[in-house]
Amino acid sequence: MNTTKYQNTRLYINGEWCDAQSGATLDVVNPATGDKIGTVARAGIVDLERAVAAAQAGFSAWRKISAFDRATLMRKAAALVRERADTIAALMTLEQGKPLAEARTEVNSAADTIEWFADEGRRVYGRIVPPRNLNAQQTVVKEPVGPVAAFTPWNFPVNQVVRKLSAALTTGCSFIVKAPEETPASPAELIRAFADAGVPNGVLGLVFGDPPEISRFLIEHPAIRKVTFTGSTAIGKQLAALAGQHMKRATMELGGHAPVIVAADADIELAVKASGAAKFRNAGQVCISPTRFLVHNSVIDEFSQALVKHAENLSVGNGLAQGTTLGPLANARRVTAMTNVIEDARKSGATVATGGERIGTAGNFFAPTILTNVPLHADVFNNEPFGPVAAIRGFDSLEDAIAEANRLPYGLAGYAFTRSFKNVHLLTNALEVGMLWINQPATPWPEMPFGGVKDSGYGSEGGPEALEPYLVTKAVAVTAV
Ligand code: NAD
Repeated sequence: MNTTKYQNTRLYINGEWCDAQSGATLDVVNPATGDKIGTVARAGIVDLERAVAAAQAGFSAWRKISAFDRATLMRKAAALVRERADTIAALMTLEQGKPLAEARTEVNSAADTIEWFADEGRRVYGRIVPPRNLNAQQTVVKEPVGPVAAFTPWNFPVNQVVRKLSAALTTGCSFIVKAPEETPASPAELIRAFADAGVPNGVLGLVFGDPPEISRFLIEHPAIRKVTFTGSTAIGKQLAALAGQHMKRATMELGGHAPVIVAADADIELAVKASGAAKFRNAGQVCISPTRFLVHNSVIDEFSQALVKHAENLSVGNGLAQGTTLGPLANARRVTAMTNVIEDARKSGATVATGGERIGTAGNFFAPTILTNVPLHADVFNNEPFGPVAAIRGFDSLEDAIAEANRLPYGLAGYAFTRSFKNVHLLTNALEVGMLWINQPATPWPEMPFGGVKDSGYGSEGGPEALEPYLVTKAVAVTAV
């Protein structure tokens, strides 16, 4: 068992780690045991005012550093993250529950993300536009938008921060993040890596507290020029509306309900392996988690039995224990949500092929669950379950499966398994999703766009598209006199 000691988390404002001025804190609980393991500082308005003033000064300083030098600092931070990966991962498992191996992968991929964005920031180009008057020169320049306010959730405590932070820093913006109160220590270590790498005071701020109070204060504040949020669709709509009222740019990475279409000609072994691993990663608390399994009726029994076997082979336990492949749910709200969703499915006539129950009473453990014969009106087929449950339904024609996939207002990720080019072509054109993975697991690499359509939000957190929202465009025309 890993012996990393959990630490209390403080705010990071103007280059200093500090308590809230009021001294207020919130408790942090280990989801594997239910025990309090530490505290996190709870910022009040005075702390937020200091954070915004620091971000304004930090922006003035940071935008004057060249993209080349910013990239060098970011690469230093990435190296520190890699060096400290074991410690950061253990803190994450203690506060969030995911198996240590998954936490380590998250931390190392954060370093990879920082490096990719560091380099991409060096390729932010403007352009020269041929003038109508040959004595003039017309240029288009890209400038950083200004101080950014970010709000991130508890399911990927480090990676939800790093995509936003890296895009902001590489383009020359300063950045305040309200990271998750339930999992504060691991994102604080990410910020520490940047601080230790030498990012100037004020460029980065880290706060925790009451989410509605903080988001209202920051979004309304005239100094904040961009808002970015990852979380539920319901909260995202509220924050996008508030950002709209104050004419702030916004990126919204919201909920999903990913369809997995398994065609009659699919490689079933591959489909089970790839979608099973994706389903139970982070106990299904993933916005791109496969949730609606639509399987051709000719292969549904074979697929369902193999997925049940996959689920039953998982080893549920404390994420720090060797061999654990499924940790506890991250908080008690998710256990209630899972219990309700499965109760509703049972009542609607679905079959619980495996799992379906909480395990024990200490910690938030929930058995990996497969539901079959799930009627369309069951809650699990309509609202994002955000937990370790796969719901399976059969289909006869691919067109019907596509219609079902597109039925919901969500449009984040989609998965499909088929050997036919004709099916691939149809799926690629018809599925209303922001990300589609066919015959493979999800690969949300930083160089690929990451984001949704419809109620899953707007804006991208990957690829060159991820930098554009942090930049403003200035058109400059100069005539020689
Ligand atoms: P929630 O909707 O209350 O909170 C989701 C996240 O938003 C949390 O991190 C929370 O701190 C933050 N939040 C809530 N109100 C806020 C506000 N007014 N301003 C700023 N931030 C605010 O629910 P929850 O119980 O924490 O999570 C449940 C649901 O959230 C899940 O069912 C899932 O749909 C969604 N969720 C999505 C993601 C994602 O990656 N897209 C991550 C975590 C949770």
